[in-house]
Amino acid sequence: MAHNVIKSVDAAGPLGRRVHPGEALLSVNGKLIRDVLDYKFYCYDRDLLLELRTPEGKIRLVRVRKAEGQDLGLDFETYLMDRPRACANRCVFCFIDQNPPGMRKSIYFKDDDARLSFLMGCYITLTNLTEREIERIIALRVSPVNISVHATDGALRRELLGNPRAGEALDIMRRFAAAGITMNCQIVCCPGLNDGAALLRTMEDLKALFPAVRSVSVVPVGLTRHREGLPALTAFTRESAAAVIEAVTQFGNKCVEELGTRLVFCSDELYQTAGIELPPDEFYEEHVQLENGVGMLRLLEAEFETALNYADAPDGVPFSIATGAAAAPMIEKLLFSAKKKYDILNGTVYPVRNDFFGHSVTVSGLVTGGDLIAQLRGRDLGARLLISADMLRREEADFLDSVPLAEASEALGVPIYPVENDGGALCDAMFGILPEIPAPVQGAEDTEYNKYN
Ligand code: SF4
Repeated sequence: MAHNVIKSVDAAGPLGRRVHPGEALLSVNGKLIRDVLDYKFYCYDRDLLLELRTPEGKIRLVRVRKAEGQDLGLDFETYLMDRPRACANRCVFCFIDQNPPGMRKSIYFKDDDARLSFLMGCYITLTNLTEREIERIIALRVSPVNISVHATDGALRRELLGNPRAGEALDIMRRFAAAGITMNCQIVCCPGLNDGAALLRTMEDLKALFPAVRSVSVVPVGLTRHREGLPALTAFTRESAAAVIEAVTQFGNKCVEELGTRLVFCSDELYQTAGIELPPDEFYEEHVQLENGVGMLRLLEAEFETALNYADAPDGVPFSIATGAAAAPMIEKLLFSAKKKYDILNGTVYPVRNDFFGHSVTVSGLVTGGDLIAQLRGRDLGARLLISADMLRREEADFLDSVPLAEASEALGVPIYPVENDGGALCDAMFGILPEIPAPVQGAEDTEYNKYN
């Protein structure tokens, strides 16, 4: 399959009907289009000359004038206009290696692709970048780049990532910083490996790259029950999680004084493991690291309380909410707060234990359809069940274990509404303003790139 072949053209867009599905886009203003990054950057200007190849092999040119930055309205055979780049690492903590066998193929694909970092916020490790790609990121000013750092000490990073090139990351990041590229960083913290003194050094090295390094998250290593044959790793305990939080908080306090930002943040999960109350919402500043579960619960709470202030009375129809164990206490708290205001609100929260991955996995996004059905069958679910939209693959409307949403709904005898991860949406759904129930999109490209880097 040629990845640059046009799948559809928006007839209302600047190209009208002058470009046709089946044609391949070769270059724009003389610049070769190798992937979606080239396409986005070279199509930014007002005046473009497109070089196309028809299905018959004829080359033709199309001139177009449009507003600066306006999208051309082209869709291509693949989202990236190229194959996704696979990772070249063997990280000791890789979550993908800890998936059980028998899941759909895309779950096992380990991407590590700078284009996905820019377009979808995926994290990359920099270990598979060629010199040409580094130069292209700098030349095109691809920013921000989200980087899985884990450790800045070269030897330690090589050990963690199982890749001899892993020690080059800090040099590449220095080049990005000099070029004005913004970076968000992630540290997957493994007790006994990259916590303690190694974590302090990593934070110091990243701080030295501020303001190019805009934020750093520290997330605890995720361990499933499927680790046969993988390196032995220690899970966080209450004490070790508290020690990391203490170190990061102290470091963050210093950063607030010196830089005016906290810079480094621990994920909500780390606080929950330590049994320490989450900091207030303001602590998280711009909430840059929400994707890594940093400040997510406090933001949900703040959004919910705001929505509750403006909400009309609920419809009073009984409902239930299924959530991962980690978010359950917060959802219960929000429901309680709403019930205090409107006592006709009739809802129940069900935390779903993760039997599929193991009980230490507590996030809602990894709850499977099988666990949901097994644990909620026969329970009083009311007239509707609300779940987090993160439990589903969007286009396919199914759970991680490929159980379709419709099948789960039928098995539980209740309509299931996936609610976006937003306090306002949650308040609406509790009150009876419901989101649409998605249906699978036929022929959709599987763009579920992994989020565990
Ligand atoms: S954690 Fe990410 S970078 Fe590391 S091996 Fe797994 S997919 Fe690759």
